[in-house]
Amino acid sequence: MDTLLKDITKAASDSKLCGMLAKLYREVEEQLGQLELVCRRCGKCCRFGEFGQELLASTAEVGYLWAWLRKQPSKLNRLLAGKTEWSHKVCPFLEDESCTAREARALGCRAFFCQAEGSKKEQMENIYEGFHKRIGELHKQRDVSYHYLGWAEAMSAVRSFVGGS
Ligand code: SF4
Ligand code: SF4
Repeated sequence: MDTLLKDITKAASDSKLCGMLAKLYREVEEQLGQLELVCRRCGKCCRFGEFGQELLASTAEVGYLWAWLRKQPSKLNRLLAGKTEWSHKVCPFLEDESCTAREARALGCRAFFCQAEGSKKEQMENIYEGFHKRIGELHKQRDVSYHYLGWAEAMSAVRSFVGGS
């Protein structure tokens, strides 16, 4: 197993880290809720190729997603059956234009509202930056190596776990 996969596995197996990240994600939702931004949940921003925007996630976030996913046999089976598109252009968790991984989605998914403008956009970006920094600090606290991965690379790691599970 290469270093990146080992680091993601370490993060996924660290229940304390996953608990801290879950708490932090709740804080993200609370702060964003105060901005009253609207998402129509159309799924367009999860089609990265068409939308023209990349999603990034840290080691801990990908580990958190993997820890969540491996408790979901039906999702794993669907992924293994190849019914979901594995592509750098569309997130594999997008089904019928909805996110099927909402509980475990990354900060970049949570803190993005395409319709945010002006000061609300600035506040949204500040929330992202602030929590991104805190997530980075969690890596240090829990001695997990920090990688900042494009979603294609993150999904490729998850796919290798799915294939090996
Ligand atoms: S942020 Fe925008 S593009 Fe993404 S799902 Fe919500 S409304 Fe659609
Ligand atoms: S995890 Fe969910 S919200 Fe994030 S890109 Fe994938 S489908 Fe979209």
